[in-house]
Amino acid sequence: MNIAFIAHDRKKEEMVNFVIAYEPAFESHTLFSTGTTGTRIMEQTNLQIHRFMSGPLGGDQQIGAMVAQNEMDLIIFLRDPLMAQPHEPDIIALLRLCDVQGIPVATNVATAELLVRALQRGDFAWRELVHKYKPESL
Ligand code: PGA
Repeated sequence: MNIAFIAHDRKKEEMVNFVIAYEPAFESHTLFSTGTTGTRIMEQTNLQIHRFMSGPLGGDQQIGAMVAQNEMDLIIFLRDPLMAQPHEPDIIALLRLCDVQGIPVATNVATAELLVRALQRGDFAWRELVHKYKPESL
């Protein structure tokens, strides 16, 4: 499964603590993130993460491109609801693409916890079928 982590600045500590708590659940998956979020997670866990650019520089859009191709399976996106972001249009675009493709996306840690437990139970195994039967043209 391809899983992405994104956390706004005031949510990064919460993200790191969350990933530490569920590190074993993520070990067997292919992990992606925006730049700084991934650096922070890798500094404090043993996980290997493919880091895209920082969010404000286009990282959300790079993850969005994977979503558009139906290649991303799950996204944990801890947004800061109390601070305006310079790349708000990119954030909205990413969430819209998740709705287009029906991708599970958590925007707060309570939902993230539910999704990770579902991941551990194998509830997202249907995503493997999506990859297997993806049309050649994509
Ligand atoms: P960052 O990007 O992980 O590079 O900080 C996240 C964001 O602000 O969208």
